[in-house]
Amino acid sequence: MPPAATVYVACGANLGDRAATLAAARADLDAHPEIRVRRGSTWHETRPVGGPPDQPDYLNGVLELETTLAPLALLDVLQQIEHRHARVRSVPDAPRTLDLDILLYDHQRIRTDRLTVPHPRMWQRSFVLEPLAELLDLDHLRRACGPAETNMRVFDLIAGDLDWRDTYHLCIGFINPRPIALVSTIAPDGRTNLAPFSFYNMVSANPPLVIFCPGLNRDGRPKDSLINVEKTHEFVVATVVPDIAMPMAATAASLPYGQSEFEFSGLTPAPARHVRAPLVKEAPVNIECRLHQIVRSGDGPGASSIVFGRIVAIHIDPALLDEHGHVDPRRLTTVGRLGGPYYADANDPYELKIPKGQK
Ligand code: ADP
Ligand code: MG
Repeated sequence: MPPAATVYVACGANLGDRAATLAAARADLDAHPEIRVRRGSTWHETRPVGGPPDQPDYLNGVLELETTLAPLALLDVLQQIEHRHARVRSVPDAPRTLDLDILLYDHQRIRTDRLTVPHPRMWQRSFVLEPLAELLDLDHLRRACGPAETNMRVFDLIAGDLDWRDTYHLCIGFINPRPIALVSTIAPDGRTNLAPFSFYNMVSANPPLVIFCPGLNRDGRPKDSLINVEKTHEFVVATVVPDIAMPMAATAASLPYGQSEFEFSGLTPAPARHVRAPLVKEAPVNIECRLHQIVRSGDGPGASSIVFGRIVAIHIDPALLDEHGHVDPRRLTTVGRLGGPYYADANDPYELKIPKGQK
């Protein structure tokens, strides 16, 4: 007999007498000659995630098993038990009398057509993590789900392994997706400028500060956005959504100073309230900013200026807002910058909850 494996199985039911079904499934597992149920979590009542609307609530829990069955043989047994309890497979996430999923099988990583372990969606599901946390200490979870041991490659910048260009290209491949600031500025003579920056973020809540970081142009001169901000002390940041991703990319073209990227990209300037720089009419969100501070990161090639702006007005499409006046992430798809020529739409939001009792 192979040594017994420790396995964690998520159990969920949202039809019929849920508690009775879950208890029966536990008894079925325990009755199998090669399975012993060591212990179980408490049952958690949760709202369904996904699937058709108006489903009944789920009862969820996790069982700790000891088994000599191989992973796929155990999956067969779980599916037989699901069938025995008249589980009907129709559309994904449809209500079911019983769902049994393998969360962890010892410390194994399994990737086959039928089985992925650790269960790929367990981290997104508080109804799995909370009961699991009752049974499992964090160390075990880490060992089971931490990064696979691989031969990591180390680039030692102190030892001179990478120059600044290589470092930059490597880092933008993983410091991402980066939000994109489509920055609108105006010269003292009234000529407008529009350019995208992916070194952009909100960095303070009170005062509300954003930064964007113009580097030097290829020819070593400061970018027009920076020249304008230094002169006028104000700018607007438009949020980039898929509809304006192409025009946004067009604004990155280097045009002669004073020639407006608004015209070149087809985007429409619209008046702001407190600053002279125009809003981008097609963007669902524009923020008006007054210059707070400029910090230079250095003088050489690759250096940026870190421009801090204080938000003084926010223009937002009200259709994006929920009843609390917050942006509903399912209603706004922003475009993020990846490495090289790649972008990504943030259109797959999901909720993560930290399991209780794991401070
Ligand atoms: P879900 O559990 O995601 O609600 P199903 O129970 O219908 O959906 O599972 C669909 C398929 O997922 C199963 O046929 C099974 O082969 C596969 N699967 C992949 N990994 C696992 C796992 N760790 N535990 C259970 N089933 C898994
Ligand atoms: Mg399942």
